[in-house]
Amino acid sequence: MSVRQHIVFLTGAGISAESGLCTFRDPDGLWRQVDPLELCTASALHENPEKVLAFYNQRRRELLSARPNEAHRIVAELERIHDVTVITQNVDDLHERAGSREVIHLHGELTKVTSSRSRLNLSCIKDFPLARPILPGDLAADGSQLRPAVLFFDEYPTFVSEQAARLCREADVFVVVGTSLSVGVAPDLVHLARKDVPRYLIDPDDFSGRIPDGFIHLREKAVEGMRLFRKEAENGFPSFTRFMDGKAD
Ligand code: NAD
Repeated sequence: MSVRQHIVFLTGAGISAESGLCTFRDPDGLWRQVDPLELCTASALHENPEKVLAFYNQRRRELLSARPNEAHRIVAELERIHDVTVITQNVDDLHERAGSREVIHLHGELTKVTSSRSRLNLSCIKDFPLARPILPGDLAADGSQLRPAVLFFDEYPTFVSEQAARLCREADVFVVVGTSLSVGVAPDLVHLARKDVPRYLIDPDDFSGRIPDGFIHLREKAVEGMRLFRKEAENGFPSFTRFMDGKAD
């Protein structure tokens, strides 16, 4: 397959794990250490801004010292031979720092802040240096408390979910990397990719029953899995061709 394909990646915390950022639901994940409902909700921010902002300032500090890993870099490098869109659940900016040009954040971005009164008000969303903590009393343009521009657990995803759904439906190749597919719209998105296009899953976990039939599961961590996927992309997706041939027998 030498023609340019449109590859759509759906990524989660697992792609950033080898950069040193914690996943959420793994045995050493963040949710084993803290209760998300005490920290990652709009009501928690209202009731205890010091505690919630301290939690996110810690995430922002960790991101400041994290670096994109080889998996992020391979995703970006594939733009040389294919069109690539990244849909990520991650709130980090490691895809962008690795050089990916089209990144859709389903759950917002830690590098940005917004209004706590009206989080989708575009005039209040702005970049905020990771090195600078967001403090109680820091105000948005509408006079309300500044907050990180991430989606809290008690909030609904924005219109980006519809854009993501369209991209998944139209993908020539669809690749899921490092997500447990347990929250938000991600579990639905994997069902939207067409069944007659190459679909890959890169994750060390067992996904029996959690992923539609026909996905080629590269059961590896993100870096090794992306090395294998790069070979697939360079060679016309031979595992998919073998899979389709097997089905025809
Ligand atoms: P999750 O913790 O639910 O699942 C992580 C997945 O990554 C699991 O399937 C696990 O098997 C896999 N994994 C673990 N180590 C891996 C590795 N080295 N390589 C590849 N895969 C690996 O995370 P999720 O599904 O992304 O959950 C979604 C939520 O997590 C989102 O709200 C997202 O914003 C948030 N989150 C983001 C970050 C980040 O921005 N870096 C970090 C933690 C959580």
